Amino acid sequence: MGSIYIQNNKDKYINFFSCCILVKGFERSVIYDIQRETIEFIPNTLIDFVEDIRGRKVSDVLEEYNGHKVAKEYLNFLEKKEFIFYSSHSSFPELSPISTNEDTSEILFTTVIVSQHIYDNLETFAQNIQQLGVKRLHLHLDNDNCMEELLNVLSSLEYSRVTNISLSFPYQKISKKVYDHKRITSITIYNSPRKRSVNENDMIRNYITVNDSKLFLTRFNLFDIAISINAYNVAKNYNLALFKTIFIDGNGNIKYNSSDKNSYGNILDDFKTIKKDAVKKLSKIWNIKREEIEPCNVCEFRYCCTTTFIPEKSKNGYAVNCNYNPYTAEFN
Ligand code: SF4
Repeated sequence: MGSIYIQNNKDKYINFFSCCILVKGFERSVIYDIQRETIEFIPNTLIDFVEDIRGRKVSDVLEEYNGHKVAKEYLNFLEKKEFIFYSSHSSFPELSPISTNEDTSEILFTTVIVSQHIYDNLETFAQNIQQLGVKRLHLHLDNDNCMEELLNVLSSLEYSRVTNISLSFPYQKISKKVYDHKRITSITIYNSPRKRSVNENDMIRNYITVNDSKLFLTRFNLFDIAISINAYNVAKNYNLALFKTIFIDGNGNIKYNSSDKNSYGNILDDFKTIKKDAVKKLSKIWNIKREEIEPCNVCEFRYCCTTTFIPEKSKNGYAVNCNYNPYTAEFN
């Protein structure tokens, strides 16, 4: 059993890379590779196998599983994907937790519907985004001729702490000046005559043929996952999707997501009011981790899902009505 490589390491111990995190779901499991920022789907039995072989001598494992076809496949898979390594040490330190208190931003992730109302009050809007310390910003415009408006919004945010900007607007000729804004990482161009994707200079342009009606729906899909050490760390301590995340509608109302019927404040209020009232109200549910929410508590995406479902009180704690069913691993 095992590759030549494993046969040559018989006297060593099997270790699992600490940057690869095993998460068991109800129907299937996953390995989050937080160094490569990728996810690998695996059967639940593979997790049990890893738990069994981790820290054991290679020769013991080879002896116990000798002639076991599935164990051989699992071992080859773990080796090929570089999830395990062999060492003369039987264990290595686990990933050390990072403090989430070091981040001084009031809000980190913001989606904004840039309406005429927000544009007319651009200075106040930009000042508040700056003072909130927003790092990732999505700007949505629905004007067929919005390049001038967009460039003015982008210039107003020049001195903010925003490090990553994504955009969505209707199909039109994109001004070359937009590409000068190096913080822009992706653009969704809707109502496009044809579907295509262009990846140029670290910026992805996705042309989609549909309109914007479904762009902000609260529905889980596989693009909504964040695999990184920071995301994992937040997910272990907070609700990753809602933590320091807001949606700002065309009237400036601050909400959790586009379908939220409540407003917790307005982005055009003075900053002290936003900080004292809106952020305080929003933060009340940041602590409700996915482990306390049904069915997220059995979902393999519970430490990487960024879909902003608002948990509601239920008999056993909290629940969300998700379009992904972790009991069957199917989408509704
Ligand atoms: S069940 Fe929960 S963790 Fe899983 S995809 Fe849905 S919202 Fe995300």
